[in-house]
Amino acid sequence: MATYTKDQLDDLFEKADGFCTYGGKKVHRRKYGERHPQGWEVEHGNPLSRGGADDARNWRVACWACNRLKGNWNASEWRYRLREYYGGECPRWYKGEIVKHHP
Ligand SMILES: [Zn+2]
Repeated sequence: MATYTKDQLDDLFEKADGFCTYGGKKVHRRKYGERHPQGWEVEHGNPLSRGGADDARNWRVACWACNRLKGNWNASEWRYRLREYYGGECPRWYKGEIVKHHP
């Protein structure tokens, strides 16, 4: 996994307006990389494991929960699951744990 520069993170975060790309949750710039309801990571829309590129065009802001649960699904597959199982919103947290619904 690549290490991102502060400028790359700032740029990506700004473009996303501070929202998770998938379910629209507001995340905190300073919570980058944290396992936290407002934590976020750089996510590959098309997973590296499926030939996705590790470059800015394939980078997305994803909340920690979306990135954990998305796994090897691509962006549209994950959006489909969010709609199906989470009402289109980012997975919620309960007592420090991501609430999982999808099979
Ligand atoms: Zn999310």
